[in-house]
Amino acid sequence: MGTSSIQKKGIPVKEGLFIPGKDPDSPPRLLACRCSECGEIFFPRRSICQNCQAESLEPMELSSRGKIFSFTVVMQRPPSNYRGPVPFAFGWVELPEGVRIETLYTGCQLEDLRIGMDVELVVETLHHDDDGREIVCHKFQPVQDDNSRNNGGAFSP
Ligand SMILES: [Zn+2]
Repeated sequence: MGTSSIQKKGIPVKEGLFIPGKDPDSPPRLLACRCSECGEIFFPRRSICQNCQAESLEPMELSSRGKIFSFTVVMQRPPSNYRGPVPFAFGWVELPEGVRIETLYTGCQLEDLRIGMDVELVVETLHHDDDGREIVCHKFQPVQDDNSRNNGGAFSP
């Protein structure tokens, strides 16, 4: 993948979920909000706090790196409007802010995924629509720099 996974265009699957990365110095960011009353963080953004019903939610950007909290490998095309490749993996990534993000996984062999693995945010093609337009969404892929590989040991069996 490397720099080829940086998105230059594409239509977000849904507005307001993320800022696409422009270059390696400006990685993509997920857009969340934090309740100013109780501190709960929500992704995607919402207008009322699910925890305390306050309406004072402040926009924030989330960390681009987290750890795999759970994952599921799907071998057969689901009976939904999912139009991406099969098999695929999805699950929940836990970010340093303490919030968990539902995501697709990418950038690795599906059998290499492990709970607790360090992953980073990318914005990639989800599918192409009927007009041939590229629809993009947020995904997480294993962190590939040497630093995390040495620290985490996530790539050993
Ligand atoms: Zn709240």
